[in-house]
Amino acid sequence: MRKRRAAAAAKSAGVDGMLVTHLPDVRYLCGFTGSNGALVLVGGRAMLFTDGRYTGQAKAEAVGTKVVIATKPAVVAACEWMAAASVRRCGFDAANTTVAGLETMRKALRSGASAARARRGMFVAVGPLVARMREVKDAEEIARMRKAARVGCELFEGMLTYLEAGLTEAQVAATLEYAARLAGAEGMSFDTIVASGVRSALPHGRATGAKLPKRGFVTLDFGVILDGYCSDMTRTVHMGKAMPGERDVYHSVLEAQEAAVAAVAPGVTAGEVDEAARSVLRRVKLDKYFSHSTGHGVGLEIHEGPRLAAKQKQVLEQGMVITIEPGVYMPGRFGLRIEDMVLVTAKGGEVLTPSVKAWIEL
Ligand code: ZN
Ligand code: ZN
Repeated sequence: MRKRRAAAAAKSAGVDGMLVTHLPDVRYLCGFTGSNGALVLVGGRAMLFTDGRYTGQAKAEAVGTKVVIATKPAVVAACEWMAAASVRRCGFDAANTTVAGLETMRKALRSGASAARARRGMFVAVGPLVARMREVKDAEEIARMRKAARVGCELFEGMLTYLEAGLTEAQVAATLEYAARLAGAEGMSFDTIVASGVRSALPHGRATGAKLPKRGFVTLDFGVILDGYCSDMTRTVHMGKAMPGERDVYHSVLEAQEAAVAAVAPGVTAGEVDEAARSVLRRVKLDKYFSHSTGHGVGLEIHEGPRLAAKQKQVLEQGMVITIEPGVYMPGRFGLRIEDMVLVTAKGGEVLTPSVKAWIEL
């Protein structure tokens, strides 16, 4: 079904073949999870090219797709096969193909008629057709993402009884990641962010040897991969009693976050959701400290479309899973962010990460 839809999208983009090499796209279309694979869609046919390490795995995972175990690089074998099958115009995703990758594709067609075709531009950049399909999740994907999000929430709740002043950020990250693996995670969606005290003013503060303060914020931003799908959430807690101003800033960020969640609905633009968060912070003159976009799509990859940023015209559709994550970062002082995963439903936005967002003092 997905392969048929991708082939139809390729056809409307004006090509008669499609070469898919971005591994999350390969996985999405045929189920193969190996680290080397090239999927070719030509007419009604789909062929997966991989290497001898994956003979058994490819056949088991890519059910319904013909598997070719190549003795040369998978992409070279795929291009040679297409040339032999007389594909005239082969689409590829320029956003996920390197210059070197394109050169390899062209070199694969070195001889005879196929070399002439390569010169005439057999390879056509068609934009991220599969990535676009992946933005809207089907029921099975949503079920997996719910599970991943739920594991994330459980991990966060476990951290609340563990966090204390004097632990290093690295210890916190290690403990969280260990618990994630025990909970069944295949890995983390990205390097766990633990940013404490003055480091909380770094939007992407990777866990360091810095110690959690007696008084100050700790931001935890993390995600697990479950069944291939990523979760992503952020909570900021406060160690000890709040200092002047901290609670007000926290509540402004929370208000901005909830306003953006409330703005989520099919037919609304990504820019409108961003503005819902940004306008709350603007009203209290904190918008200049909100230095990134409001959110992003999430799925097989931690960052996917749509991008929820100022003036983005892309319209949200039912089945998209996005993050809503405004933050405020005051250099040299403190910062905080609150992030949920949100499913776009017919009725609006459904939060998949319902862990408490009220002020927490530990
Ligand atoms: Zn995050
Ligand atoms: Zn995120």
